[in-house]
Amino acid sequence: MANQDIDVGRRKAMKLAIAGAAAIPVASLIGGGVAYSQDLPHVAEDDPAAVGLKYMHDATQAPRADKAGSAAADQFCHNCQFIATDSGEWRGCALFPGKAVNENGWCSAWAPKA
Ligand code: SF4
Repeated sequence: MANQDIDVGRRKAMKLAIAGAAAIPVASLIGGGVAYSQDLPHVAEDDPAAVGLKYMHDATQAPRADKAGSAAADQFCHNCQFIATDSGEWRGCALFPGKAVNENGWCSAWAPKA
């Protein structure tokens, strides 16, 4: 009986250890992304990925069109689901890893925040 109690205790400890180890990378990604955006280099409009997505720092100069129930004039990086959740003029974007986009920019992958 005592051995069964020890086994149950070990199993619980192992589950907690695994869950804790799995949570560390997720927490560091979330926290790291928020603190890191302002330090990222700005994506260049002539970057091949930016050209491919028609990214522009100034959304009013971009070829926007009504999309997903949102008027073209209302589409900006700051209200796109792919922008980092921190604040600031330049922020990370899931589509441009390691680079920052202008909060008033736009690209053809724009999608409204949920
Ligand atoms: S995916 Fe969204 S946040 Fe990223 S550049 Fe395009 S419009 Fe801006």
